[in-house]
Amino acid sequence: MVEEKKEYIYEKKSGWQIFSEEQLPKIFEFCEDYKSFLSNVKTERESILKIQEESKGKNCRFFLNKQSSAALVVPGEKPLSEGVRLVVSHVDSPRLDLKQVPLFEDSDSNLALFETHYYGGIKNFHWLTIPLAFHGVVVRQNGDKIMFKLGEEENDPVFSVPDILPHLSYEVQDSKKLEDAIKGETLDVMVGSKPIIKKEDDDSKDKIKSAILKKLYEDYGLVEEDFISADLEVVPAYKPRDMGFDRSLIGAYGQDDRACVFTSMRALFEVENPAYTAIALFVDKEEIGSEGNTSAQVIAFLRSIFKELDPTVDVDEVMLNSKAISADVDAAVTPNYTEVFELKNAASLGRGVAMAKFTGHGGKYNANDAPAEYVAEIRRILNENKIPWQTGEIGKVDYGGGGTVGKYFSRLGMSVIDLGPPVLNMHSPFEVTSKVDIYAAYLAYKMFFMSS
Ligand code: MN
Ligand code: MN
Repeated sequence: MVEEKKEYIYEKKSGWQIFSEEQLPKIFEFCEDYKSFLSNVKTERESILKIQEESKGKNCRFFLNKQSSAALVVPGEKPLSEGVRLVVSHVDSPRLDLKQVPLFEDSDSNLALFETHYYGGIKNFHWLTIPLAFHGVVVRQNGDKIMFKLGEEENDPVFSVPDILPHLSYEVQDSKKLEDAIKGETLDVMVGSKPIIKKEDDDSKDKIKSAILKKLYEDYGLVEEDFISADLEVVPAYKPRDMGFDRSLIGAYGQDDRACVFTSMRALFEVENPAYTAIALFVDKEEIGSEGNTSAQVIAFLRSIFKELDPTVDVDEVMLNSKAISADVDAAVTPNYTEVFELKNAASLGRGVAMAKFTGHGGKYNANDAPAEYVAEIRRILNENKIPWQTGEIGKVDYGGGGTVGKYFSRLGMSVIDLGPPVLNMHSPFEVTSKVDIYAAYLAYKMFFMSS
């Protein structure tokens, strides 16, 4: 810390006490915009469209990689060959995806349902009996797109995965291990129950399924084979909410990692005449291992941006001279399960943006491990700007762990560190963050972009 008084002991402090009194209303104001972003954006495609829309009229350039990755760029005063300041976040979140042939009728329960295959690491039981919305795109053979967003408006219908009542759950759930009690294959979503009424309209066996297909054709011009070429996602239908008597927390779906998407986007919009070229990069597919042509592993996208900014530049030189933040959320100490955290090093809600020197698991395997020099540099930026921060790590050694996109950028020769707000209930349909940490993350990214 930069206070006059020397502090011999490193202590995690409340972010609420580090910010000045004048800053406190700004935190709540900023988080209203954040909640509004989260309620409008629940998929990777919607994130990218929103970023593009927000960037209009701003002092930055927008670059798009297909439908679900993008970058915002503010050119710096120094030549590009001296490197960039890059903040990378991911636009995808865990959810239920529809299978290619999703619709079926279950004659026993007299319902029509969708088959799903979950995306990313979820705890299956979280997804039962909650109201769900239906988002995504269907692409017809001729290339026409049908966009879906159903379940978000007050009068929209919602969808839901059924569960067995406790009176009957002993054999099939209660006596089993948690991971065996609810299988991924059983996460089917209820989509209707009304059969075709007039017999002459239809001679098929599945009258409810037929009625749903008829309705989908009338409303959207969609036929069953169209589901095969679609990215359709089932996500929680509710809106972000303030939490607690003091309204200090936010409960919402998709905060991993749209907390970092929103804060880095806002930070970049406010960057003026940076010394180094500032880039906010938004990638997809992080939750399934960063595989695919819109993921963090697509270096060609970054290369193409460098070439566009300066056709004569040596892209490898830019990479080697660049500094990056892997902007992803960290695990917050969970009150009813503190035993899986090593509390001196773990991050807690409300103590600022969490800095993880290394990620990975068991022996730092698969990690990006930032060198001391780079950690010191980031620490200086945070302290000099009085931004609340804390260390973070995902759990006790050998208890688990997790990776981020950090390693994909360090392997290009960049300096990389993980920095993002802690999240409680991570990967659940209702993730919790602290408003003070969200604001601290935004300030941290902004000061990093502006650093020289
Ligand atoms: Mn993440
Ligand atoms: Mn995640």
